[in-house]
Amino acid sequence: MDLKQYVTTVEDWPKPGISFKDITSIMDNGEAYKYATDQIVEYAKKVNAEVIVGPEARGFITGCPVAYALGVGFAPVRKEGKLPREVIRAEYGLEYGKDVLTMHKDAVKPGQRVLIVDDLLATGGTIDATIRLVEELGGLVVGCAFLIELTYLEGRNKLENYDICTLMQY
Ligand code: AMP
Repeated sequence: MDLKQYVTTVEDWPKPGISFKDITSIMDNGEAYKYATDQIVEYAKKVNAEVIVGPEARGFITGCPVAYALGVGFAPVRKEGKLPREVIRAEYGLEYGKDVLTMHKDAVKPGQRVLIVDDLLATGGTIDATIRLVEELGGLVVGCAFLIELTYLEGRNKLENYDICTLMQY
């Protein structure tokens, strides 16, 4: 299946100069959503993932069905102030200023094989912070999977020590 036909590109959103890749048009097509999920499930099997970790919010949409299909757990990564129990935190740079991602302290067990899943790899800042959280908990990042990679932003360079799987490249 050519998944790209289900991606909607919205120019100059949310601000001028951004070419936004909207994946809701994959999700609202049952066959396309299943096909995309199945590709990541195959990759997860190949790297022997024991738990899926995904950053809010589109990492939930892409990661949770993978966890369900494998019968493994899913651990959410969220913005500060959203998780109710004790968390660890990682800062990451935005275009202007900083943001913070958090994870529950017991979300990943030491030595556990973790697959990180998100909708899109842009600069890699989000995933770099997610990797730092997982590793602080002692998890082993066995791979990072994305529906889409924006190759011109070179996010891969930030993740050169990790195995990356992307279903579509722009
Ligand atoms: P980054 O940290 O730069 O790799 O950005 C990753 C996150 O920002 C992803 O989880 C995407 O949801 C979102 N994102 C960044 N750029 C785009 C884009 N052009 N289209 C859609 N989502 C984007």
